[in-house]
Amino acid sequence: MPGNEKEYIPLSVPCFEGNEKKYVNDALAQGWVSTGGAYITRLEEQLAAYLNVKKAAACQSGTAALHLALLECGVQPGDLVIVPTLTFIAAVNPVRYQYAEPVFMDCDESLCMDPVKLRGFCERECSLEDGRLVHTASGKTVKAVIVVHVFGNFADMEAIMDVAETYGLRVIEDATEALGTRYTQGRYAGRFAGTIGDFGAFSFNGNKIITTGGGGAVTGRDEQEVCHMQYLSTQAKDDPQFYIHNETGYNYRMTNLQAALGVAQMEELPEFVARKNRNYAVYREQLADFELGRLPGFREGTYSNRWFYAVELAMDRIQMSLREIITAMQEAGIQTRAVWGLIHEQLPYRGAIAYEMERAPYYSGCILNLPCSAQITEEQIVYVAEQLKKICCRKS
Ligand SMILES: *Cc1c(COP(=O)(O)O)cnc(C)c1O
Repeated sequence: MPGNEKEYIPLSVPCFEGNEKKYVNDALAQGWVSTGGAYITRLEEQLAAYLNVKKAAACQSGTAALHLALLECGVQPGDLVIVPTLTFIAAVNPVRYQYAEPVFMDCDESLCMDPVKLRGFCERECSLEDGRLVHTASGKTVKAVIVVHVFGNFADMEAIMDVAETYGLRVIEDATEALGTRYTQGRYAGRFAGTIGDFGAFSFNGNKIITTGGGGAVTGRDEQEVCHMQYLSTQAKDDPQFYIHNETGYNYRMTNLQAALGVAQMEELPEFVARKNRNYAVYREQLADFELGRLPGFREGTYSNRWFYAVELAMDRIQMSLREIITAMQEAGIQTRAVWGLIHEQLPYRGAIAYEMERAPYYSGCILNLPCSAQITEEQIVYVAEQLKKICCRKS
């Protein structure tokens, strides 16, 4: 029971209520545990059908999915790739795997990349030379942009795709947090996050909306490119009998054990999305009278998976620091966390290009993430909201 010291409300834990054990045991019984086996193709087909795309390639992680997409974009040493600063660092690190350089971009009110600044950077800091976007100060080519759908909120894809088209940029959607998010209105009505740009990356890490323990998938507009990424993920093996390899490949393929878990989780995905939406509504209701914070909304004209809940706190009117609030919540048996530290300020990325940062530093200082597991009860949400209101009113 809430208030009982024995019960701890975690931030985000996986939910196994379906055929997980059955399928994993089946994979074990068949002896197919590694990077071959029927569950892998089954998961790929399930995912492609759900997203309404021709093909998806299952891989070891969302990070691997992003790396494969960058490889497919032809990102090479010395190229530039535009990325958000307010996100998980896994969205940016693969740029460095290619010895390319990130250009950090600010966010808008959705916490996703600001399309106005994206255009501003391309327009004012770069020029088009023979269809190539060249960054004036460094002379480097801007090849692609990685757009993250933060917490399951859809980035403004209409505006972003317009910019990408004008400047010949390839678009990689980091939909690792947004499986199930879709447009309901506008130019992309009916389209899912991860299926609008050139490539979409998904993650099935333990805290994501569905999990395979660790895992991911990549899809793309061009079926041939998805096939090629799949080929790269299996050591670029051209002939399995004679071991002929015509490119440098990677060991990025998902295992059948992971996929068995994933097939079961995919069956439950619609239910998880529905629950996350219902639970978000309960938080909204419970925090409606909270004067020191508000839940940032999700983009109009979209149906979000509402994967992760965030509250924007009025830090200027709260007597405690974010760290003190997190500790006090912890003492009340509730796990919360701050949004990420900005990536352009992290040690490996200091000195990288960061364009007109304004909103990201603000949000980074005042966003608190609240428990959001699919199995959280209404009673627990009421308790979390109560504690948050009480703690934020304290004088330190
Ligand atoms: C989780 C996540 C990733 C990486 O996924 P992994 O499967 O953990 O490699 C990348 N980008 C964002 C925004 C994420 O939240």
